[in-house]
Parts: sequence; C-alpha cells; structure tokens
Amino acid sequence: MTLPISFDDILAAGARLRGVAHRTPVLTSRTADERTGARLFFKCENLQRMGAFKFRGAYNALAKFTPAQRQAGVIAFSSGNHAQAVALSARLLGMPAVIVMPQDAPPAKIAATREYGAEVVLYDRYTEDREAIGRRLAEERGGTLVPPFDHADVMSGQGTAALELFEQVRELDGGSLDLLLVCVGGGGLISGCATVARALAPACRVVGVEPEAGNDVQQSLARGEIVHIEVPRTIADGAQTQHAGALTFAVMRALVNEVVTVPDAALVRAMRFFAERMKLVVEPTGALGAAAAFEHAVEVRGRRVGVVISGGNVALERFAELLARG
Ligand SMILES: *Cc1c(COP(=O)(O)O)cnc(C)c1O
Repeated sequence: MTLPISFDDILAAGARLRGVAHRTPVLTSRTADERTGARLFFKCENLQRMGAFKFRGAYNALAKFTPAQRQAGVIAFSSGNHAQAVALSARLLGMPAVIVMPQDAPPAKIAATREYGAEVVLYDRYTEDREAIGRRLAEERGGTLVPPFDHADVMSGQGTAALELFEQVRELDGGSLDLLLVCVGGGGLISGCATVARALAPACRVVGVEPEAGNDVQQSLARGEIVHIEVPRTIADGAQTQHAGALTFAVMRALVNEVVTVPDAALVRAMRFFAERMKLVVEPTGALGAAAAFEHAVEVRGRRVGVVISGGNVALERFAELLARG
C-alpha cells in the first residue's frame, strides 16, 4: 500500500520552511541522562514560531495553495495551536484567514489569533454545529479548509521537526537515534516524524505517547481500526482528540512501533523538570514524550533517544497552578 506521505514530501516541506520556520534547538541535560540511564535529545518546538510545531504543517499547507485559493483564503477550526499557526502562516503569505473558535475558548487564545490578523468567528459549542458553520463559510467565501492533522501537507510539514532533529543529533556527536518519542493527538506530528525516521534510521523505534485518559490511538492500533472515544479529561489539551484521521491512522499503522501512555501527574513532573533544570516553559501536551522517558513508560536505558517537546503555549497562571498542585 502506498502511504499518503513520503520522505520526499517532507524534504520538499523542509525547503518551503527554510528561512521561515525556526530551526529550533536540540538540548541535552546531564541530569536527565543520569536519571534515565539514556542519552536524551530534546527537540524544542516550544521555541518554534507561535510556540508549537503546528506552524510547520500550517505554513507548508498554505504555501501550496494555488493563486485562486490564496485569494479566497483559508478557514480553520481550532481553539488551540492550530488556530494561531494558520493565522500566522496566512499573514506571512498575505492571504485572509477565518478561524472558527468556540465562544468559551480561553480569551488569551482568541486575542492571540486576532493579533495575527485572522478574523475570528465564534460559535456556541453546545448549540451550534461547527461542521455546518464551516460549510457555510466555505460556500460564502470560497475559502479552503485546512484541518489540524488529517491532511498530507500538514503531516509533511510536521515531519520537518524530525528531519532537523536527526540532522542536529548528527552534528552534535556524529550519531543517530535508537528511539524517537513523539506525543500523539490526532497523529499529524508522529506521521511526519515516523516517515523521516524510517528513511534516515530504519532501525530507530518510533513510539507515540498519549495521555492515559485519552489513549484512542493506542486502542486503534491494537484493534486495527480507528476507535472513537469521549472527550478525554486530561491536562494535555493538545491531545484531547477523540479519534485519529484516516490518513494519519494509515501512516501510524504502517510506521509506528508502539503507543504508550502517561498519567497527568507525570506531565506535571516533567514540566517542573524543564522549568527548574532547563529553563524551558513546556505546555502539558508538550511534556508527553519526556514524561514517558522519565517515568520509564518505555525502556530508554542505554539508548539514544530523541524526544519532541511539541509546544510551550500555556498561560503562566495555569502553569503556576499546575506546578503548585504537583
Ligand atoms: C497539536 C498538538 C499536539 C498533537 O499533535 P497531532 O499532530 O494532533 O498528533 C501535541 N502537542 C502540541 C503542543 C500540539 O499543539
């Protein structure tokens, strides 16, 4: 079976993003290595433009629009990082963006999306059907809908994070990776990253990490079909997806070795470690991969492990509240 994305698609995305996305740093920590018995390489997408890897996929998708599509602009549904990623990418490419967000989304997120120049359309998530709103907007304005993960250009864009990670690890000490830990929401990020790992390091295990409360992808891979779950109750708001996409599931099924889970308390412990020891602000979802390594949800001892820190967008009040709890 041919998969929806190839390594060449990711190389092409890398070329589109050059000079536009940050080549985010890869950081290491002796303390983390001593505690885990592994050699850990943290890819810091919390330091990406707009604060998360989502910029990569959104920009790659929008950059491929035809002139007619550019003129009509882009439509996205999101209350999270995808909204800001699409808004910023649209501004950089000079096209209009409409972002549909729930009325009760955090005001800071609505404001940030508007600051990037997007028009924000609010809806009531309890009484209104967002699919219908999307269809109406698309009809009225002719805009192109870009989903947060189940889209080949989005998945390819996200994969450029792993492309850089393998390159940067090689620059650091000439070596490669035995294991790659990637957080999983809808599976866009891990689809791209797994495609890169298979091409550059065929023996590298690719392991997805989900919150314990929202392990739909783990269940889906076990059953061989997409499993739909209730909205999971977890602090990892970027991984509250209810089911994978058809495209991401096809790639994950073919290329991901395993999916493990971690409890919310482990995310808080990892966030504390990053703040205290590495001076990094990491959002709960961004800490999934690291938490799996720190708490040995997957065997890391003696291995060279890439860990994608996916984002850092968390209100500081919320950040403080979470750490005080832990
Ligand atoms: C969207 C997001 C994820 C999940 O990514 P998927 O491509 O949906 O699997 C993880 N972390 C952060 C910070 C995100 O914004």
